[in-house]
Amino acid sequence: MAMMLINTDIKFVTGIGPTKAKLFNEELGIADIGDLLSYFPYKYIDRTKFYTIAELNETMPYVQLKAQLRTLETRGTGRKERLVATIADETGAMELVWFKGLKYIKNQLKLGQWYIVFGKPTRFGSMLNIAHPEMEVLNQTNMEKLTGWQAFYITTEKMKARHLDSKAIGRLITQIFQNYELNIDETLPPEITEKYHFLSRHRAISVIHQPPSPQLLQEARQRLKYEELFFIQLDILRKSRNQRRHFRGITFSTAGTLFNQFYAQHLPFPLTGAQKRVIRTIFDDCRSGRQMNRLLQGDVGSGKTIVALCCSLITIGNGYQACIMAPTEILATQHYESISKLVEPLGINVKLLTGSTKQSQRTIIDETLRNGTLNLLIGTHALLEDKVQFKNLGFVTIDEQHRFGVAQRARLWSKNTTPPHILVMTATPIPRTLAMTIYGDLDVSIIDELPPGRKPIATYHLFDNKREELYRFMRQEITKGRQIYIVYPLIQESENLDIRNLMDGYDTITKQFPECKVSMVHGKLNTATKEEEMRKFAANETQIMVATTVIEVGVNVPNASVMVIENADRFGLSQLHQLRGRVGRGAEQSYCILMSKHEISNDTRKRLSIMVDSNDGFVIAEADLKLRGPGDIDGTMQSGLPFELRIANLATDGELLSQARHDVEQLLDNDEQLALPEHQLCLLRLQQLNKKKQNWSDIS
Ligand code: ADP
Ligand code: MG
Repeated sequence: MAMMLINTDIKFVTGIGPTKAKLFNEELGIADIGDLLSYFPYKYIDRTKFYTIAELNETMPYVQLKAQLRTLETRGTGRKERLVATIADETGAMELVWFKGLKYIKNQLKLGQWYIVFGKPTRFGSMLNIAHPEMEVLNQTNMEKLTGWQAFYITTEKMKARHLDSKAIGRLITQIFQNYELNIDETLPPEITEKYHFLSRHRAISVIHQPPSPQLLQEARQRLKYEELFFIQLDILRKSRNQRRHFRGITFSTAGTLFNQFYAQHLPFPLTGAQKRVIRTIFDDCRSGRQMNRLLQGDVGSGKTIVALCCSLITIGNGYQACIMAPTEILATQHYESISKLVEPLGINVKLLTGSTKQSQRTIIDETLRNGTLNLLIGTHALLEDKVQFKNLGFVTIDEQHRFGVAQRARLWSKNTTPPHILVMTATPIPRTLAMTIYGDLDVSIIDELPPGRKPIATYHLFDNKREELYRFMRQEITKGRQIYIVYPLIQESENLDIRNLMDGYDTITKQFPECKVSMVHGKLNTATKEEEMRKFAANETQIMVATTVIEVGVNVPNASVMVIENADRFGLSQLHQLRGRVGRGAEQSYCILMSKHEISNDTRKRLSIMVDSNDGFVIAEADLKLRGPGDIDGTMQSGLPFELRIANLATDGELLSQARHDVEQLLDNDEQLALPEHQLCLLRLQQLNKKKQNWSDIS
């Protein structure tokens, strides 16, 4: 057998060639053999089982039949043109239909021939049929071949058009294993493979593509999942250990007179026990000599902003600069306004920097940042730009950044020769396993206590036909002097359509409530208009705010007591919880009304009832993770990971993740530099993964 190195360009594989290789690369990012072998199937079908036509019904997933081709004809014209075949076995007859590639398929098929037909039965009127089935001539050889599970791969339209469908990919991979001797080396340290009796990497990868049995497939999946989680943890923990060793932190020797003065004289309210505890912990970190990297979790409204401010004041009191970064301009502006007011008596210099800061103002900010007379800078991602240079940045707060991963934080470290302390604040309670991965290098604090006097928000789910009741209720609250949010989701393909939906909602509301002034905010407005509308609402000049989710994060209008969420079924639970957190900020009883149409699935009903039943962000986050499943969660979380996950699933593989993290800790305790000979392959793999990641970010 020919030897083939894993990093060989796939164009050299027999049957691929340069054209297909290019397609693989462009469509799936697959460049070498290693990439192709790491392109795991997303599902498997048992190809040993055959059904008869009489047994079929439309609830079945993919099925396999042995049947004879009886008729074959094209029907319809133009875009409706399709190829229809009748097949029959001893139990009955049914139709097959193709909408694409008619000519090609017609030429391939032969009347009277027996085929293995494979596809998903669907109901079409009173008839069952299968659209675009796979057809294979029935003969002795392929009957023998069909002994096990067939793997299915995701491909793109472009690839299918060039006959690179799931089956073709499967065939190519089988061929590679058959024709070449591959150097698929072990990557996990020997103590790990022994501990878990894992399949070798070579074996696991071959099994995952061509499973001989469900049991072996299970073993292979387990091993490959573990491996992914292991290297993610290894990367995170190794970097954070290195960082701890290399970088001494900035030391704040005292809480400082600035903080003490604020604390004694200007606090707008007594801090909760949880707030005090967190500030104390952070201060302890900051004088320990180590650089702090801390995640602060606290439900919406738990009072994280004042914690960030207190820490910033300690920083400034020690002669350093601080900055607070928010995800949206609205939120940054609001932080800026409330914080400037709070610190006014202290006489420190606070500025706002966002994408729309004017050049003249920007010049002043740049200058005062560099000469050190600007003490506290509040802003958006604009703070991250390289041209933003501090004289001596000591403390960074990152507010509400669900996607602010390890790599982005690293950019902040370089803002000073000694990296600043970093506090990441989030109101999206992250289940523990996720936190370990996305924020795996951070210490965690939790504010588990709401400020006193908060009444739990009463939440209701209303169907659209109860709209009159909704309006009556809104009117009641407005008469009491309260204000109301109405939020619309982004649902259409086009942003313009969404905005039109929002406008329609706005028109309805202005007609229904002629006595009220109504504000409207959405992403397409320019910043000045957005801010003006927010300001008007905050000042109670308008009573109703109609908006998209731009108001989701952090906006604070204590007099608003009702949050109406239209098409609530379109939102994830965490997002609903965030939105709900916009009300219940004052002393008044607040309400959240979830509107939906009557026809919603059972799952959706369940999700909405969790919102109705619970006000606890942690409970909701766990429920969300369970209900939404991996897809969505991975989508939002993936960007925070050092490497992409191909097989492990953060929602369901929590146990395995904990094990992997524990094993990595132990490994690094014994051999922090991965210097031992038995750890060399493991180190090499880590470097490879990092290099691949690097290449990707160069391209994208
Ligand atoms: P979040 O944690 O969601 O960012 P905020 O910092 O915006 O919460 O605080 C929510 C509201 O609670 C604000 O109006 C804030 O002034 C108020 N608040 C914060 N801490 C306290 C406290 N200890 N006592 C009373 N009110 C507080
Ligand atoms: Mg906040």
